[in-house]
Amino acid sequence: MSTLLQVVVPTPAHSTVAGALSYRSELPLAPGTVVRVPLGRREVCGVVWDPAPGDALDDTQLKAIGEPLPGLPPLSAGWRELVAFAAGYYQRSLGEVALAALPPQLRELDGTQLARRLKRSVAARGGDGEAARPDLTADQQQALTAIASEPGPFLLFGATGSGKTEVYLQAVEQLLLADPAAQALVLVPEINLTPQLQARFEQRFGADAVVPLHSGMTHPQRLRSWLAAHAGAARIVLGTRMAVFASLPRLGLVVVDEEHDPSYKQQEGARYSARDLAVYRGRLENAKVILGSATPSLESWQACERGRYRCLEMPTRVGAGVLPRVRLVNMQNQPKGTLFSAPLLAAIGERVARGEQSLVFLNRRGYAPVLACTACDWRSECSHCSAFRVFHKADRTLRCHHCGFTERVPRRCPKCGNVDIAPLGRGTEQLEERLAELLADARRPDGTPARVARMDADTTRAKGALEEQLAQVHAGEVDVLVGTQMVTKGHDFRRITLVAAVNADAALFSSDFRAPERLFSLLMQAAGRAGRDAAHAAASEMWVQTWNPEHPLFAALKKHDYPAFAQQQLQERQQAAMPPFAYQALLRAEARTQEVAQAFLRAAASGAEGLDGSAQVVVFSPVPMTVQRVANVERAQLLLESNSRPALQAFLAAWQPVLHGLRLRGLIRWAVDVDPLAI
Ligand code: ADP
Ligand code: ZN
Ligand code: ZN
Repeated sequence: MSTLLQVVVPTPAHSTVAGALSYRSELPLAPGTVVRVPLGRREVCGVVWDPAPGDALDDTQLKAIGEPLPGLPPLSAGWRELVAFAAGYYQRSLGEVALAALPPQLRELDGTQLARRLKRSVAARGGDGEAARPDLTADQQQALTAIASEPGPFLLFGATGSGKTEVYLQAVEQLLLADPAAQALVLVPEINLTPQLQARFEQRFGADAVVPLHSGMTHPQRLRSWLAAHAGAARIVLGTRMAVFASLPRLGLVVVDEEHDPSYKQQEGARYSARDLAVYRGRLENAKVILGSATPSLESWQACERGRYRCLEMPTRVGAGVLPRVRLVNMQNQPKGTLFSAPLLAAIGERVARGEQSLVFLNRRGYAPVLACTACDWRSECSHCSAFRVFHKADRTLRCHHCGFTERVPRRCPKCGNVDIAPLGRGTEQLEERLAELLADARRPDGTPARVARMDADTTRAKGALEEQLAQVHAGEVDVLVGTQMVTKGHDFRRITLVAAVNADAALFSSDFRAPERLFSLLMQAAGRAGRDAAHAAASEMWVQTWNPEHPLFAALKKHDYPAFAQQQLQERQQAAMPPFAYQALLRAEARTQEVAQAFLRAAASGAEGLDGSAQVVVFSPVPMTVQRVANVERAQLLLESNSRPALQAFLAAWQPVLHGLRLRGLIRWAVDVDPLAI
């Protein structure tokens, strides 16, 4: 007698949204068991799923299930529910989400290898109850008391340097004191930020207790971490957004650090928000959830105002650290073409002379965003994308930041032959070059010249380069650090007393309604890098060069007043019926031509009429995406909006079969993006 089992398999995302396939098995296997099953001519890895009602089919036609992976405990019911929710909510197939959540090597390993690995990972134990911990501030103490005694979810609204990380550490400690076998999941927005946080957790809990999980790891490393978490041996999993799907059978606490960060949104495949899933997972598995930020997302802020989250405030910096004074430079009063205003330059020079560090940021790498002919209208456009190629002076190339297309800078204008082609606008490379010139006479306390360094995606590409550059900054070998927003996040640079944003205005006039929110949090985060060391804190400054000093955003920034800013933004959003007061989804299409992409979206829109929930869903007209063509693919999108999340969800579910049924020549792919972050 064989049993009928439901197994989810990695079916291509667009072939079916249905859940599992049926297989025959000689053994009754528990839901959550990882198995090998035949699929077409291949054998693939699958997960035994929960039986669906009415599963008693005639099983003579069904293929037999292969071997379960030996020694691997089944994935928990909580994990399966999380996967099922994510697949449903983000409109992807169950198998795609389930299998993407497992480490790649799990699918390739043979049984003996796996059993060996598993044994090794189970052997890992940790916990240094002994490590020194600071006396908590009153704010930290209050936050921890609330976390211990209330259900949450919590929004830890703490200024940069207010000691949020210490609260996470002690919340984990509370958890492990109550239940030594419990597990905590700690999410950070960027791979760059994992090593330093990992070091702090390892110091406190022992190296064996903590495992990292992010896409920068090799497949064997990922498998090792995943198994340690799955077997319950790891106490703390520390990772980027993908880690929200880690198998944690004893999950008791979830921390989402810098919860406002857009990196928590996955931008391909299942486009999930790891922050939102973390909150859902916490509720599902009865684990406490702490979202931390100095500049919370407006979604989370609104959730506090409505009493859905509990707000824990930590407004002041630990010790004598004070937040930097904000200084605006009105660029309208500066000579034309000014890159660094005289007072800013003088302030940086003073820092150099005192042996303090400055940080200058600009969100654009390369030397200049465009190269242009001075005689005709030639510009360094990418021939494959509707975008300009960026001029990189170091290797004299033009590089497309969208498709990667790279060429040597032409000697003369390709259109008219003119030899005079010039950079337009500025990037970090140019900033570094100009600053080095402008600070040529500046001297450090020991009389040596000022040292300017740059840190961005270009300088940190090589393995180990980032760590090396960070170490140099920490060691005081750099006086002025120039970089993209990479340098503004999370790092605990102790000697920085000046931070400058040289060109922040673009975001003020962006068509993206989230641009002001992003800019404000970016500037606050950047300011958060300055004055962290009490010895120099009093003189710390945040400089902003702007053409619009009267903008209300800067008034709030000057006072470090996030609540005022949030209130003003939420009012605007409410009046305009924008998120978080409305719910959005995008249908994106990619095709050989813009016409086909839009024709698909129009057909999808007409197929939407009369569907479940459609009375409460507004379907907008198809439009080309901001960067309309990338790598010769035309892109367009259709916005959907509703004031009811359930109505939008019901509608999207009913729409799926319609979308799958549409076939157009020249259509390459389409995808639904629920709660999109950029529209
Ligand atoms: P945040 O995460 O809010 O930016 P951190 O947790 O990194 O802040 O704390 C900033 C600095 O203050 C760190 O160097 C940390 O070790 C230190 N710190 C945190 N809490 C305390 C405390 N209660 N007493 C002394 N130092 C503390
Ligand atoms: Zn020309
Ligand atoms: Zn390109």
